[in-house]
Amino acid sequence: MFLTISTTGTSERPATDLGFLLHKHPDKAQTFSTSYGKAHVLYPEANPGRCTAALLLEVDAVALVRRGKGKGRGAPDAALAQYVNDRPYAASSLLAVALSAVFSSAMRGVCNARPERAAEPLPLRVEVPALPARGGPGLVRKLFEPLGWTVTAEPVALDTEFPEWGDSRYVGLVLESERLTLAEALRHLYVLLPVLDDAKHYWVSDDEVDKLMRAGGDWLHQHPEMKLITSRYLSRRWSLTRRAMERLELVRLAEADDSEVEQIDNAVEAETEEEQRPTPLAVQRRDAILTALKESGAARVLDLGCGQGQLVQALLKDVRFTEIVGVDVSMRALTIASRRLKLDRMGERQSSRVKLFQGSLAYTDNRLKGYDAAVLSEVIEHLDLPRLPALEYAVFGSARPRTVLVTTPNVEYNVRWESLPAGHVRHGDHRFEWTREEFRTWAGAVAERHGYRVEFVPVGPDDPEVGPPTQMAVFALGEARGDGANGTNGENGKNTADEKKEEKAA
Ligand code: SAH
Repeated sequence: MFLTISTTGTSERPATDLGFLLHKHPDKAQTFSTSYGKAHVLYPEANPGRCTAALLLEVDAVALVRRGKGKGRGAPDAALAQYVNDRPYAASSLLAVALSAVFSSAMRGVCNARPERAAEPLPLRVEVPALPARGGPGLVRKLFEPLGWTVTAEPVALDTEFPEWGDSRYVGLVLESERLTLAEALRHLYVLLPVLDDAKHYWVSDDEVDKLMRAGGDWLHQHPEMKLITSRYLSRRWSLTRRAMERLELVRLAEADDSEVEQIDNAVEAETEEEQRPTPLAVQRRDAILTALKESGAARVLDLGCGQGQLVQALLKDVRFTEIVGVDVSMRALTIASRRLKLDRMGERQSSRVKLFQGSLAYTDNRLKGYDAAVLSEVIEHLDLPRLPALEYAVFGSARPRTVLVTTPNVEYNVRWESLPAGHVRHGDHRFEWTREEFRTWAGAVAERHGYRVEFVPVGPDDPEVGPPTQMAVFALGEARGDGANGTNGENGKNTADEKKEEKAA
């Protein structure tokens, strides 16, 4: 099995620097012994314009079977397995082990000879001609694309002479990117090749969690397929998977605290300042949300991504809201919110109506179930787009309140902010800002997928050309397919019964 890594260059930044970055000289072929056979590194081409390094594994099938998972217990089919298993030609976990053995410094981004080049992205092309990929080309794309790769994954036919036999479980993989450093690229491969293979050649033990954190700690926590990657990497050993997931979540929370929140704290202030006179947009937004909540008849309300608690405070002033829950990923925002609400000095009656807790909207959470309404006010644009489906599922698929309100900036309106340079988003932490069309498309699809009806409400002055500064979607559960041909719709029936029960209870 083999893999090639290529880069291109110029006379000032020659492609042959790849040799320095990999710590392997382009002029000679080198061989390294590993416990399962030999790894060769050679350069099929090495000139300033283009340079390719190849890693070739020559696997000892017998050693593999003897030292593999069945070790010591005399695996019953070992005799046969040493002849028929595909590991010598295809084992990705062997390739991963070889990558980390042969390119360990490069994987850590260490390069004393060319430190500046190790730290910067370079044009990369990685080829793996026969990659075992359980999940097919679709999964290959889902794993690599969010990391900044352009992916070409062609299924390999079982036998080209007999196309009717269909495809094998191998794909020919080509990855291309100009956005990644070599170290990042190697760490992606080290984790994801065995994940795609989904079969390790050795017993997965506890220290595998550390290995995963070392190679994936700086990107896996943001990956939309984090769970699948973690579970497959750890051979579906659940206790290890859970431990790894917890560690990754901590990375995420720490990061959220540092970047998201600090900027968000300033943002709310900045936005309010910018929008002074006549009524600040933040206030208009809160009013629009309160109106929609009242119209929905909600009593028990979630404020998801509640930030510093301004909306929670407004909701508390209206007795029709009997239970108000603010959720945010940021501890710092929650501390400010609790200070604003003077939670510690609140009377018992008031304080029994309000709760604040920390949680990430990218995960389903049973604590969010059973509410009448959820508000996501200026929250979605703070998530990276690939994480949005996770939020969608947590809110619309799992928590499933009857009403969901989502507000987000209308990017078309940005030309009307005089102080905003052309082409800029309103705030540094906004990962995206949508046009009215983009927001409607997203909201329409969400409603469709989860059985909601959706309507759109402008917030702020509705400019005839570019629309309003804030756009709001009002989702209502169960009404989208409400005209069911023969009347009985089990789910709707159940909801109504539940609602009646809740109304009584309230
Ligand atoms: N809803 C408030 C605050 C908006 S700022 C308002 O309208 O003023 C966005 C908030 O979303 C921040 O407080 C941020 O910490 C929170 N947030 C971002 N990503 C989150 C996530 N994954 N889970 C929960 N909260 C998140």
